Amino acid sequence: MTLNLLKPINVNKSILEKLHTLNLHTYWDLLLHIPIRYEDLTSIYLMANASVGTQVLVEGEILSTEVLHKRTKQLQVKITDHTQIITLIFFHFYPNYASQYPVGKKIRAYGEIKLDYYGQKTITHPKIQTVRDNQELPNTFSPIYSVVQGLSQLQITKVIDEALDMLNIIEMVEILPGNLISNYYNFKQSIFTLHKLTPKQFANKLHLDALSRLKLDEIIAQQLIMYNIYQYKHDNSAISIKQKGKYTESLLQQLPFKLTKAQLRVLKEIYADLAKPTQMNRLLQGDVGSGKTIVATLAMLVAVENNYQACIIAPTEILAQQHYFKTKQLLECLGIEVICLSGSLTPKEKKIAYAKIADYELSGGKVGQIIIGTHAVFQASVVFKSLALVIIDEQHRFGVKQRLSLQEKGNNPHQLMMSATPIPRSLAMSYYADLDLSIINELPPGRTPIKTILVNNTRRYEVISFIESAIAQKRQIYWVCPLIEESEKLNLENVLKVYTELQAKFPNLGIGLIHGKLKSVEKSGIMHSFSAGELSILVATTVIEVGVDVPNASVMVIEHSERMGLSALHQLRGRIGRGVASSDCILLYQNPLSDVAKKRLKAIQNNTDGFKIAHEDLLIRGPGELLGNRQSGVPLLKFANLELDLHLIPIAQGIAKKLSSSNPDLAQTHTKLWFHNQEFFLKA
Ligand code: ADP
Ligand code: MG
Repeated sequence: MTLNLLKPINVNKSILEKLHTLNLHTYWDLLLHIPIRYEDLTSIYLMANASVGTQVLVEGEILSTEVLHKRTKQLQVKITDHTQIITLIFFHFYPNYASQYPVGKKIRAYGEIKLDYYGQKTITHPKIQTVRDNQELPNTFSPIYSVVQGLSQLQITKVIDEALDMLNIIEMVEILPGNLISNYYNFKQSIFTLHKLTPKQFANKLHLDALSRLKLDEIIAQQLIMYNIYQYKHDNSAISIKQKGKYTESLLQQLPFKLTKAQLRVLKEIYADLAKPTQMNRLLQGDVGSGKTIVATLAMLVAVENNYQACIIAPTEILAQQHYFKTKQLLECLGIEVICLSGSLTPKEKKIAYAKIADYELSGGKVGQIIIGTHAVFQASVVFKSLALVIIDEQHRFGVKQRLSLQEKGNNPHQLMMSATPIPRSLAMSYYADLDLSIINELPPGRTPIKTILVNNTRRYEVISFIESAIAQKRQIYWVCPLIEESEKLNLENVLKVYTELQAKFPNLGIGLIHGKLKSVEKSGIMHSFSAGELSILVATTVIEVGVDVPNASVMVIEHSERMGLSALHQLRGRIGRGVASSDCILLYQNPLSDVAKKRLKAIQNNTDGFKIAHEDLLIRGPGELLGNRQSGVPLLKFANLELDLHLIPIAQGIAKKLSSSNPDLAQTHTKLWFHNQEFFLKA
């Protein structure tokens, strides 16, 4: 019955077109098209009581009507209710307009009271009603809807009223079972309250209760969808791959370090998932430098041990290359084939790589295979022979849609997402509700904390002499320039300027330059020389922000650090402090500093723990911005605002869980109603 509300709106074509531009297609959509504001035409104010700055309805007799030729031509109509006089002012009017306001006529005017030059009350461009005998005032506020040109308030109100009539004849007051939602304003009432708000309801703030209810329902629907995806994925059959020890054990023996307790714990969770005949969907969170890569490699080896393929996807070319070289180094002696699908491959190399991936037994070995690439490469027409596991590194760099689209590759491969950007639990509950969570909560032992200092750019020379002594100690240095999003050209100019400056200061040193405009072969060549220790300084844009791992680099200078976000600073700084040597991070800044920039720089200087930094970030920016473009991929929320309504998420999640187990049909109806426009998510 409620699904009747999803019928297409039946109205003449020209209005329908306008409604469609507003993304209103069904009667349900109309119900949710709540007013952007209200006008209170329910009571008449005495002119003497109408206070300046408020929007009020007044009624009075016309005293005079005249067209004035002041700086701009204007029509002035003075009215009075014998308590005071108000002047109505019109700047846009047709010549015959004045004749509609004969002296003595009774009219009502609605608008904002202002004072003119002489301290007299005025209303500019009021809404006018002619008063007929015994005309009653409406008993609800007049809704003002968001419209487009060519669609009047009257027209949209009329179709919305039809939708309200439809809702009215549906007998239910609740879509959700009342016992689950008893603390909240009921649904039907909420819709009516918002469209037909009475002064009394307004005084009791019931419209806010009604709005909360819609927000809650919306988040419940979002949760149901994410939970559906979770269920659907976990019901997906997948290849059960059990850890056999052949390669995983050999690799562990060969490593120069022992895994931390946290790494062992998350590996156990991952192994358990892989062994199941259903698909793994796990998010691995661990601070920068906590050693996620080795966990990923060990997970991939389980696939290889079982004669399957595993694949890891990195957000940048540089990171993909790095993973490739490191993984190859580690695994080559075990006789495992590692293939890199990078943009730098020649067409011929690509062809060979594709052929091997399609049938890796061609390449001789009888064991599985590891494939490394960026998302772009992965999306291309690569056919996997038997892909059992996909790992996404730095997954916060990918949208939810990209994440979900992995589903379409291969035979339901197990999925592991890795991220160094921790987000608060309530947000994770919203955005990662389709994933299980593993957390690495400790860093490998023996790391010396990074010293972070702030240096005004006017004292740049001191930084240069610090660098000089660091180089004498054979330390390697990153020198980073922030990305300027608006201008590729400026970016290049900035890094080039710094590069030339440093070359002039240190003519005998190996200095590398890396930025997004280089070809990928060039980038990988430079990263290679830097990690091999052939370069002392690497001047870089933020292309090196994520994942790059050169343990001997222990100094980082960041230019214009005041322009960078907290998580970017944290990620960047995470490139150092990876070896045993103590590390220094120098944040160059330029005055004047905004308040936010000051807070950010303080936060980064005083904290090294990524979870704490994320918390600070949340305080400074709020979750909306924290999530950034990630948000664009999630079932979009129209009412709920994750910034203000975080507290609703756990409540909604609880209700969603109960609902989908106790009444799956209702759960389905609910998601259909709320997200029928977002097919992508319903498909899953
Ligand atoms: P992230 O979690 O940021 O991806 P990486 O996987 O790049 O971190 O690891 C950072 C560095 O720590 C690497 O050089 C890696 O070899 C090293 N590492 C990883 N695990 C351990 C460990 N248990 N003990 C010592 N060093 C480790
Ligand atoms: Mg990493």
